[in-house]
Amino acid sequence: MLTISPIPAFNDNYIWHLERDGEHWVVDPGEAQPVIDALAGEQLAGILITHHHLDHTGGIAELREHYDCPVYGPGSIDGVTEPLADGDKIELLGYPVRVMAVPGHTLDHLALLLEENTSDGQQYHLFCGDTLFAGGCGRLFEGTPEQMYASLSKLGALPPETLVYCAHEYTLANLRFAAAAEPGNSVLQNRISETESLRARDQVTLPSTIGEELATNPFLRCHIPALSRCASNHGAENNPGEVAVFASLRKWKDNF
Ligand SMILES: [Zn+2]
Repeated sequence: MLTISPIPAFNDNYIWHLERDGEHWVVDPGEAQPVIDALAGEQLAGILITHHHLDHTGGIAELREHYDCPVYGPGSIDGVTEPLADGDKIELLGYPVRVMAVPGHTLDHLALLLEENTSDGQQYHLFCGDTLFAGGCGRLFEGTPEQMYASLSKLGALPPETLVYCAHEYTLANLRFAAAAEPGNSVLQNRISETESLRARDQVTLPSTIGEELATNPFLRCHIPALSRCASNHGAENNPGEVAVFASLRKWKDNF
């Protein structure tokens, strides 16, 4: 059986820990010690990396020293031993994993889609780093709004039941912005209540699903008239296209 659990790191990062039959992998280890502690003496089989930011890569060197394991990720990153690119397929823990380029937050950003066969059919697990967040999306440090919007649209087209494992606990702040952008969305209001109650008990709000994101995440809802009007009130022209809506919302969120 596959289990996926978060290892908290820094203030609000999650290092995702995948385990099946005693084989362990981690995604985006920004620091090594929390991983070493979580493994409690067991071997690490490998590391997956989504993008080059230090809070996702800072633990690679120490973990490799400790476990001598392969590192899969963008080839330009120090310590990556198995370079990945858009369209690649690898096998992980006996499951196929599809590699998708999702530039925008950074230009090297990859998302990894693991396809688990369960007794009920296929279950998809998406590791999307800082591209798609629960209720939001990453800042545009390197890419253009066009690139990021195309990347998010690619993720939004995955099956709605796909589980979304992003790399930060930003959900509540993201949803508060979403509510400012789309106050009339009742599904969003319910999600905020549920998220507030989880956070009040210091619980993790992830994974979410693509279906939940499509219903509540403004950055996947740029085609909705309410968000288009909202974008026009925040600097976009009248009747903006979806990319212009996205760019205007993202800019507003940067200063929210
Ligand atoms: Zn980042």
